[in-house]
Amino acid sequence: RRRFPNEPEYLQAVEEVVTSIEDVYNEYPSFEAENLIERLCIPDRIFSFRVSWVDDKGKVHNNMGYRIQHNNAIGPYKGGIRFHASVNQSILKFLAFEQTFKNSLTTLPMGGGKGGSDFSPRGKSDMEIMRFCQAFIAELWRQIGPDTDVPAGDIGVGGREVGYMFGYYKKMAREFTGTFTGKGLDFGGSLIRPEATGYGNCYFLLNMLATRGIDIKGKKVAVSGSGNVATYTTRKLTELGAKVVSMSDSGGSIIKPEGFSEEQLDYIFELKNYYRGRISEVAEKYPDVQYLPGERPWKHVKCDIAMPSATQNELDGDDAQALLDNGVIAVSEGANMPSTPEAIKKFLAAKILYAPGKAANAGGVAVSGLEMAQNSQKLSWSAEEVDDKLKSIMKNIHEQCEKYGKEEGSDFINYVKGANVAGFMKVARAMMAQGVL
Ligand code: NDP
Repeated sequence: RRRFPNEPEYLQAVEEVVTSIEDVYNEYPSFEAENLIERLCIPDRIFSFRVSWVDDKGKVHNNMGYRIQHNNAIGPYKGGIRFHASVNQSILKFLAFEQTFKNSLTTLPMGGGKGGSDFSPRGKSDMEIMRFCQAFIAELWRQIGPDTDVPAGDIGVGGREVGYMFGYYKKMAREFTGTFTGKGLDFGGSLIRPEATGYGNCYFLLNMLATRGIDIKGKKVAVSGSGNVATYTTRKLTELGAKVVSMSDSGGSIIKPEGFSEEQLDYIFELKNYYRGRISEVAEKYPDVQYLPGERPWKHVKCDIAMPSATQNELDGDDAQALLDNGVIAVSEGANMPSTPEAIKKFLAAKILYAPGKAANAGGVAVSGLEMAQNSQKLSWSAEEVDDKLKSIMKNIHEQCEKYGKEEGSDFINYVKGANVAGFMKVARAMMAQGVL
């Protein structure tokens, strides 16, 4: 707090991890002797830079660009790039910190990093996006590489942006390697990567529900967001027989208490993924869908399960209370840190099935890890092969959470503690084995 007083999101993420690993930390005096927590709380390095680019009218704009290389004890830095007006150093530091433990949970050899810019892609033409991506990589390319730091997508960065960044990286570095993941299928991308975070979250949810013998069929699920993670979550939920009762974007939410039809979900998928439309347009097209401008969905529709999949701190203590009052049995986070500390406290006190993002949404980076493996072998695996591996990685993450998070003398699994302790232990052991660096 003394070192980073102006970084609330970063402090929030650190506090959650530090609180839940306290017991194991105290069990091993060597952790304290090595001052491991402090070493882990200061990123290895941070690059920040100006990104100047020219819009279609010839006007010059300047944005901030960042890359946080947080920790590479278990593999090259790995984590997405976010383009959104709200991006700042605190947000990227929290994401890179979380990423380190999440990547450790996947069991694949990946360290933690994150990057991005306060550039907003909304309303920009294709050529403006391309020029921005090229200007961003012109500055960053020297700091990344297939065995150094491997970026991917995140909010505002999908296949199109990764393509432009990869293309420019390839030109500058004069090499064709797997330096980015989330690439197009024609140039080294992996099948199932676009689906992986949303599908992975559903697989994690199934593992959680199984611990209480609950069937997902017919369950009502409130989802937030309508981007990559949210839309593939709704696809898998529909396939599993669940009903999606809400979605949202930064303008507001749409709800339908009896569940959207498949046609409506397909429309939303196309609207958001291909046309970059607004969620309000769904209610304009379908009169049985209600639009709530400026609202988040949680208080407005009854659900059995909530899957926040938009952004950080989008579900606060009051939202959590409303969900619990309406009988929610599980919350599985697609977004990173969507629940505030007050909300998490309520979920844990109510002993519902609550999975933090670093466990539940790890499927995305896991398949990114599989993309890296395919790139270095110069092979590509079938969709079934990747999907099977994703299922088994999510099952394994669930088992690790159970191992470290099961409360003594009860059946309750504290997934926050489980994920943090499991993720931390591996990174800690690797750091100690490699000496003080
Ligand atoms: P997208 O850009 O595809 O979608 C983001 C969605 O969230 C959009 O619907 C967007 O609305 C909404 N949103 C963004 N910012 C806000 C805000 N401040 N308030 C309300 N709504 C907002 O991103 P992703 O789907 O990739 O990412 C969503 C979340 O999942 C993020 O937390 C990300 O870090 C996390 N995540 C993503 C992974 C991936 O593989 N993509 C992997 C693991 C985690 P609008 O269209 O109006 O901007």
